[in-house]
Amino acid sequence: MRIVLVGPPGAGKGTQATRLAEKLSIPHISTGDLFRANISRQTELGKLAKSYMDAGNLVPDEVTIAMAKDRMEQPDAENGFLLDGFPRNVSQAEALGELLETEAIKLDAVLDLEVPEEEVVKRIAGRRICRNDSSHVFHVTYSPAKKEGVCDVCGGELYQRDDDSEETVRKRLEVYHTQTEPIIDYYKAQGLVVTISSLGPVEEITQRALEALKREDGGK
Ligand code: ADP
Ligand code: AMP
Repeated sequence: MRIVLVGPPGAGKGTQATRLAEKLSIPHISTGDLFRANISRQTELGKLAKSYMDAGNLVPDEVTIAMAKDRMEQPDAENGFLLDGFPRNVSQAEALGELLETEAIKLDAVLDLEVPEEEVVKRIAGRRICRNDSSHVFHVTYSPAKKEGVCDVCGGELYQRDDDSEETVRKRLEVYHTQTEPIIDYYKAQGLVVTISSLGPVEEITQRALEALKREDGGK
């Protein structure tokens, strides 16, 4: 399957993407994780991306699309992928559409995770991620690591993302409403959007997502 996950920052996209990717045997492709890996390796792309990320803005389309394309062209993504955080505006959605068209492939679904804003703020305030791999995600109260400050998966150090400060989160939410939400209508026009609530226990949301995707797949 080829799936796009959308939802505001803190909706639980990364948390669900890791689980869904495993269950569906497709790679989880997160542009945010790819940028953070570039920042840790101190690449030119990482240096450029960091200035935009720290301000809560989107990284320019040209570099983002090139990076996403490169990742989607890796052999493990040949038979499907789960995109998390890409596309994030209509131009990126159009670029993705063109890329898929040249390969004669189509998206199967756009999974829209709905969460009230006050919940998103609580989730982001307590989020902690791993220095070794930013897809290892915890929450100080909702999903604490077994040992405080240490990643359960790999033993790496847990820290709070620079862009999870209150001020940057406000900016990221505004960017989500003005630039990313329009892609939901864009994909609704293509009949691809399935919306589920992202409230409740993580495992329940995964089941909800799998059911919704099954319905979408069967309905075609
Ligand atoms: P996103 O990728 O959409 O920004 P994350 O998956 O990183 O969101 O989740 C944001 C924070 O909320 C993390 O700290 C995560 O542990 C926590 N979280 C994710 N899903 C839930 C849930 N269903 N209930 C409570 N907390 C959650
Ligand atoms: P995320 O990990 O998805 O919350 O993304 C963190 C930050 O990375 C965003 O606030 C943006 O600055 C940047 N980013 C991630 N994905 C994209 C994208 N598709 N387009 C532009 N910027 C992105």
